[in-house]
Amino acid sequence: MGSITLNKVSKTFGEATVIPSIDLEIHDGEFVVFVGPSGCGKSTLLRLIAGLEDTSGGRILIDGKDVTGNAPAERGLAMVFQSYALYPHMSVRNNIAFPLKMAKLDKAAIDKKVEDAARVLNLTDYLERRPSQLSGGQRQRVAIGRAIVREPSAFLFDEPLSNLDAALRGTMRLEISELHNTLKTTMIYVTHDQVEAMTMADKIVVLNRGNIEQVGSPLDLYRTPRNLFVAGFIGSPR
Ligand code: ADP
Ligand code: MG
Repeated sequence: MGSITLNKVSKTFGEATVIPSIDLEIHDGEFVVFVGPSGCGKSTLLRLIAGLEDTSGGRILIDGKDVTGNAPAERGLAMVFQSYALYPHMSVRNNIAFPLKMAKLDKAAIDKKVEDAARVLNLTDYLERRPSQLSGGQRQRVAIGRAIVREPSAFLFDEPLSNLDAALRGTMRLEISELHNTLKTTMIYVTHDQVEAMTMADKIVVLNRGNIEQVGSPLDLYRTPRNLFVAGFIGSPR
């Protein structure tokens, strides 16, 4: 559970071709980072995988099943939004429980899933608080909790740390990496930050103008960047 295949996936908005054609294989359990400069199509690609945008061409397979035309809810993925997407008037418990209530699970099942997620995220003591009574890092963990309870086959993160300060970003990077070690679920993480890419990824996908420049481990990209763009972006000497 959690393999994702992109087969000649493309996206045009009106006249503008944002993604000409992408082929990519993501294996079950991988931590994959999409990295590249602002405007290169990272968010668009993630939204195509999530089903939040329709593809203009090509196919998307999840666990071997063609989901190209499927609605987001039918794909078994969870998108983690920035922490400001929390509901301010609801407790942490109810924020995390929200997708389960929408799915009409019974209360006992909801409580158990919420409490299990809270334990993994060190939020057990904060379940009855409101988001405004939490630190930025705790709020981000609540946003992740809301994804965890859905038990997705993959987590999709779009620059989840970009509105946190530098010190907290470092801590949260480690926490998300630890979460991946614990859950062993596929994660796709979008960032324009080379440090995040190099420290978190099993596999980095370097994007430039909607094309993949190179795919490889952080060490691969550092040692053998395919071109000057990758070398410049990753910061390796060449
Ligand atoms: P990134 O996340 O890498 O910064 P995006 O995927 O957000 O890049 O955007 C890639 C390109 O697609 C940009 O030129 C952006 O203006 C364009 N784009 C994104 N969404 C839309 C949209 N809904 N309509 C028109 N153009 C869009
Ligand atoms: Mg973006």
